[in-house]
Amino acid sequence: MFKNLRELISTMPDEKTCRDYLAKERWNGVIICPYCQHDKCYVIEGGKRFKCASRECYQKFSVVTGTIMGASNLPVSKWLMAIYLLTSSKKGISSYQLARQIGTSQQSGWFMLHRIRLMMKNRSTTLLSGIIEADETYLSRKYRSDYKGLPPQEIDYNMKNKIKNKGAVIGMAERGGEVRVKAMFDNNAKNVWQAINENVKPVSELHTDESNLYKNDEQPYNRKHVTHYKREWVKGNVHVNTVENFGSVMKRGVYGIYHHISYKHLQCYADEYSYRYNSRKITDAERFTISLQNIEHRLTYNELIGKKINQ
Ligand SMILES: [Zn+2]
Repeated sequence: MFKNLRELISTMPDEKTCRDYLAKERWNGVIICPYCQHDKCYVIEGGKRFKCASRECYQKFSVVTGTIMGASNLPVSKWLMAIYLLTSSKKGISSYQLARQIGTSQQSGWFMLHRIRLMMKNRSTTLLSGIIEADETYLSRKYRSDYKGLPPQEIDYNMKNKIKNKGAVIGMAERGGEVRVKAMFDNNAKNVWQAINENVKPVSELHTDESNLYKNDEQPYNRKHVTHYKREWVKGNVHVNTVENFGSVMKRGVYGIYHHISYKHLQCYADEYSYRYNSRKITDAERFTISLQNIEHRLTYNELIGKKINQ
């Protein structure tokens, strides 16, 4: 087991050791055919590939078949380094920087990062419970400059509304636990409550700010709020500081590292930041190893550039 990037490279110095490591993490000794899930396979081509022993299948495959690395010409060693860099960089890593560090083109780096984000997607179906803080963050700085610094009475509602429809994410944080983040392509109460209902257990205590988005008499939560426009940030144990801290890390990352993100990919970036936040108590090497459990998700280039990214 390695503890940092230097040890990762020295324990897996070549393509063979990287592939062996990946096979161990993926199959733990029992090679499973990615086409038919058969658990008897032959090792062929000196361990580089495998062949399914099932009479109906007989497919040949390698350790990357059916994973995020599938159908890619890039060596596994570069993939492992890229996974390590993205999962351990607190604010993310740009495709240019990744490309320079591992030696690929920027386009390959961009595509790798999107595939790795697929591994970082939250697949837990457990609902958040206890005290939950909910708050929205807007990631469209372009429009914010239109009204930033103006006194509140001079801010035109439409001006603010214009940005609200773009790049909004709602974060829900269980105090002392996980965050869940959902991108909203249209910022309205319906989307806000849909995200909360999908992620938060009813009867939980829900802390929000005074925004009208959260006013809803029919919701099943015990809602308490702080009134930010009266400069009230904490009232007893009621506050949204946890989720605001998460939002500010994500915001600084998106502005500082990615500069401009397309709204089509907003959920992927939200997944990236929440994944790192939710694994904040473990080491970078542990996070790297755990993320490999999610490698069995392929994303084709067409899916990525088309609009087939599912939420
Ligand atoms: Zn098979």
